[in-house]
Amino acid sequence: MEKNQIFETVIEDMSENGEGIGKVDGYTLFIKDTVIGDRVQGKVIKAKKSYGFGRLLKVLEPSPWRVEPACPSASPCGGCQLQAMSYGRQLQFKEDKVRGHLIRIGGFPEQQLPMEPIIGMEPGEEAFGSRAGESLGRGEAGWPGPFHYRNKSQYPFGRSRDGRIIYGFYAGRTHSIIEAEECLLGAPADRKILETVREFMEEFALEPYDEEAHRGLLRHVLIRNGYHTGEILVCLVINGKSLPHGSILAERLMRIPGMVSVSLNINRERTNVILGKDMVYLAGRSYIEDRIGPLRYRISPQSFFQVNPVQTEKLYGKALEFAGLTGRETVWDLYCGIGTISLFLAQRAGKVYGVEIVPAAIENAVENARINGISNTEFFTGRAEEVLPRWYEAHPGGKADVMVVDPPRKGCGQALLETMVKMEPVRIVYVSCDSATLARDLKYLCGNGYRLEKVQPVDMFPQGVHVETVVKLSRQEG
Ligand code: SAH
Repeated sequence: MEKNQIFETVIEDMSENGEGIGKVDGYTLFIKDTVIGDRVQGKVIKAKKSYGFGRLLKVLEPSPWRVEPACPSASPCGGCQLQAMSYGRQLQFKEDKVRGHLIRIGGFPEQQLPMEPIIGMEPGEEAFGSRAGESLGRGEAGWPGPFHYRNKSQYPFGRSRDGRIIYGFYAGRTHSIIEAEECLLGAPADRKILETVREFMEEFALEPYDEEAHRGLLRHVLIRNGYHTGEILVCLVINGKSLPHGSILAERLMRIPGMVSVSLNINRERTNVILGKDMVYLAGRSYIEDRIGPLRYRISPQSFFQVNPVQTEKLYGKALEFAGLTGRETVWDLYCGIGTISLFLAQRAGKVYGVEIVPAAIENAVENARINGISNTEFFTGRAEEVLPRWYEAHPGGKADVMVVDPPRKGCGQALLETMVKMEPVRIVYVSCDSATLARDLKYLCGNGYRLEKVQPVDMFPQGVHVETVVKLSRQEG
C-alpha cells in the first residue's frame, strides 16, 4: 500500500486505543472512527512496511454495533474512543482486551483463565443523570451506554483563533483546544461553573494560559462532584501566584448550589502535568465529602478518587470479597490514595496499613479514618516500592495476611513485588487500571508461589478504551 491510496476493507478488530483494524491483501491498516463490523472505504495516510494508517472516507456498510455518537465532539476529542459502538460491544471489547493481555503478556493458558464476565453499567445508573429531555435509547439493544457518570472533569482554558476566551478539551493527542460547552461524561452542572469563570475572565481582562508561549494565567479548571452528597469543588490551576480579584470569583462560584470549596492550584512549570504542588484556598473548605457504601470520604483537589462512583462501589465490593477477611487479619493496602479501599477493608480486618505517595491524600486518609470512627488503620507517606521494603527490613520475618495493591498504569515496582512475596500473604488482591502491566506483574507473582484464582473486569470508563480489573491470587502451599 502507498500513501493516498484508496482502499476498501471490513473492520475485523480494534486496537487497544480504539482504532479499527482492517486488512487489504494481508496488509494491516489502522483506521480511526471505525467500528468492528463496518465495511469502509478509506485513504492511506501513512504507510509503513507491514502496516499503515488510514483515514475513514465512507462507511459503505455500517456494523450492527454502530451507533450515532451522542457527543458532537466525539471524533476530534478522542477521549471517548468507543462512542460509535453500542455499549454491549464495548464491554466485550474490554473483556477481550484483558483476556488477550493475560494470555500474551502473562503467559496464562487460555483454557484455564478464571475470568468472570465484565461488570458493566445498567441503563439508568449514571451518577449525574442522562441528558436533559433527551433519550439516549436506554434499554434498547443498541443502547449507546452511559454518559454523565464522571465525578471529576478538568477543562483547559485558552483563546480561540478569533480571540475569544474558550474552554473545552484537547483535540486527540494534541494540545490545541477544541471549544465545547460541556463534556457528556461529566456532570451537567459543570457548565454553569465554567461559564461563571469565563465571564469573570472577560470582565477583568484576565488572560488564559498559552501553552506554546508559556504565558497567561488560567490553565485548567478542575471540578469534582460528590455523587451522594451533591457537594462541588472547583480548583483553578494558574500559572502565577495569585488570581487578581479572586475573592469576587470565589463569591460568585460559592453561590452555585452545592459549591463547598473554591481554590487555586499553582502550576508555573512548562509541563503537561495538570496540577502543581501548592494550593491556595479562596472560599469554603479544602475538600468535598462523598460516600461509598456506609463510609464517608473527604477528597481534596489533588487526591486521587475513582471517577465513576457507581462502578466504584461494585469494584470495591469485589475487592472486599476477594480479600476474604474474617476480622483478625493484618492487611496492607498499597497505593491507597485517600484510604478508600483501606477503610472498606478495616471494617473487617484486625489492622490495615496504607501506603501512598501524595501527602494531601494521606492527610485525607487519616482524617477519613477518624470521621468514620475507624481506629485500626495506619498510613505511611512515600513510594510503595520503598516504604514496604524498608518496613520489612525493620521487621524481619514480618508477615501479612492479605495485601491489596492498586497501582497507577505503570504497575507495581519490582522491589515491591519481591517484598510482597517475602511477606507471604495468604491472598493478594490486585486492582489494576492497565491490564498489560497487570499481566506482567501477575506473571511474576504466579511464578513465585501464587495462583490466579479470579479475574474480574469492571467497566469504570464507559465510552473509553480503558478497563479496570480486580484479581484474586492465593498462596500455594509448599
Ligand atoms: N486505592 C486508591 C487509589 C488508587 S490510584 C483508590 O482506590 O482510591 C493509585 C494511587 O497510587 C494514587 O493515589 C497515586 O497518587 C498513588 N501512587 C502513585 N505512585 C505511587 C508510588 N510509587 N507509591 C505509592 N503510591 C503511589
